[in-house]
Amino acid sequence: MEKGLYNPDCAFCDSPYCALLNQKSCKKCCMSKLEPEEQIKAGEDIFFVVEALPENGLEDIMNAKECALCRPGEDEAPGEAQRYAQFDMGHIHPLVPADQKENGRYKRAASMVIPVQLPVCDDCRHKLNLLYYLPLGIGVLIAALGLVATSLEAVRIPLTRYGRIIPFLVFLISVCIGVIVACIVNRMLRRRIERSMNTRAKRIPALLELVKNGWFPIGRKDGMISFSFTKEKLDSGLLTGENQREALEKIRGFGREGVALVAENTLKRAEREQSAE
Ligand SMILES: [Zn+2]
Repeated sequence: MEKGLYNPDCAFCDSPYCALLNQKSCKKCCMSKLEPEEQIKAGEDIFFVVEALPENGLEDIMNAKECALCRPGEDEAPGEAQRYAQFDMGHIHPLVPADQKENGRYKRAASMVIPVQLPVCDDCRHKLNLLYYLPLGIGVLIAALGLVATSLEAVRIPLTRYGRIIPFLVFLISVCIGVIVACIVNRMLRRRIERSMNTRAKRIPALLELVKNGWFPIGRKDGMISFSFTKEKLDSGLLTGENQREALEKIRGFGREGVALVAENTLKRAEREQSAE
């Protein structure tokens, strides 16, 4: 971002709100596409997000050197962080009326969302990838074997003697067996993984403060978090930048009403610079 350059289309250009949004350029930032009133509302939303964040934002969480998911024994240390596990956390929007709130559940229109990146070790990543793909793979394989078997003449013809629909029923049974086996394998793997890893937000020490502040992971219904893994940290987006504490302190200091004031001052400054040119 070219700091110090005033974008007349954006009320928050080069402000702490801009720092938290951490966009590569004004062209790629959602703020510059909004009308001034919408920008104020978006700025207010950022203020509500900030109010619900730990003092240093997400910086301490994403910059940790040790794996956030390892659950080491007494004399063991967590693994060294080698990748980032990405996922989203939601929070009920404070302006949503009580009757529209669904506590702990994500409802797009009633929630605030932040991207969270947890440093993780390769061992934890392998275990989770096994959990994500192995049960599904086994289920699909069993169903595919059923399909292949019932397509073979040597199997299909003897089966049709009992009724023309029998081969199809055998295939359906293989699909059901596939689903059941996938569920069993999934449960077994989950139990095994949970002995050596923290997979739920409430058990991940790095997320405890966020959870205490009302944030919950968005995604699976079984309480486990669905991660996608990246080699590097995200280089742009809300709360992905460095020095978050400084921007957070300023935004907290401005307060909710300060959003409009910051917007007004920024626009006035942009106008002054334009008339001086
Ligand atoms: Zn680990």
